[in-house]
Amino acid sequence: MSKIKSQIQIIVNPTANRGKSKALFKEFISLMDKRGIKYKYHCTEYPGHATLISDKITSGKGEILLIFGGDGTYNEVENGCIGKDIIIGHIPAGSCNDFTRELGEWSGLNSFLDSVENNNTMLIDAGIVNDRLFLTNVGAGFDAQIIHDMNKRNMKGNLGYVLMVFKNLFEFECFKANIETYEKKLNLDLLMLTVNNATTYGGGFKIAPAANVKDGMLDICLITSISKPKFISNFPKVYSGTHLKIDEVIYWKTKKVNIKLDRKLPIQVDGELLPEKLDELIVDVIPDAFRVFKY
Ligand SMILES: [Mg+2]
Repeated sequence: MSKIKSQIQIIVNPTANRGKSKALFKEFISLMDKRGIKYKYHCTEYPGHATLISDKITSGKGEILLIFGGDGTYNEVENGCIGKDIIIGHIPAGSCNDFTRELGEWSGLNSFLDSVENNNTMLIDAGIVNDRLFLTNVGAGFDAQIIHDMNKRNMKGNLGYVLMVFKNLFEFECFKANIETYEKKLNLDLLMLTVNNATTYGGGFKIAPAANVKDGMLDICLITSISKPKFISNFPKVYSGTHLKIDEVIYWKTKKVNIKLDRKLPIQVDGELLPEKLDELIVDVIPDAFRVFKY
């Protein structure tokens, strides 16, 4: 008999990673059946659905909620669960699973179920931009434009990302930003800005190598106006996180940041675009926002 007596709730995004999450979920069900774990699952049917489902199925009485999806699905679920006393499990089943890198090394479904049965959990921070929660980061400018262009072409994963990086390298124009934190006040021409809870995004780009989801801080990474040849030659450094040594990169930790832009820009939150372009962002951290299963 399983150590878990109550019924586990599961949210599945069946279209995550072009449907590969479905096969993973089937395997997971058979493992739970073998262990005698009781569960109920709910499939998402449209963007935003995971927020509605997670809000409806959790009462906040210590329930376990597992998510099959990627960063976009996690974001939706966490937006439906803030403030509730639940434990959330993240199964990396999306095309970009950046957030799950913060939870330890993924060792497969069986090992994850061990973690769930042993109640191996930790508290993590979330960020909040205007009124929307995020787990990995929020970004404006170059990176959000890339997501915008990837969405338009239905592209996913690292290759699509790199292709659209180069497209925008020739098309995207820098913007002016006024950035205010307790530590710094800056007015700069920027190629892009990100405010980070997690270290990576975009499928493994280590944009905020010093970020920690448990330190109660947000890591700001700004890339100021940079020549195209220098950007191209330094671009691979974002994979290893060594871009922080480049003169045009500004990086620091803070608890809150107010950002004003000289024009309305696409804003990405956990890899998904906000419905409207914005020229004003207030980004805050919520320390210990969620209890989650470690890997
Ligand atoms: Mg942090």
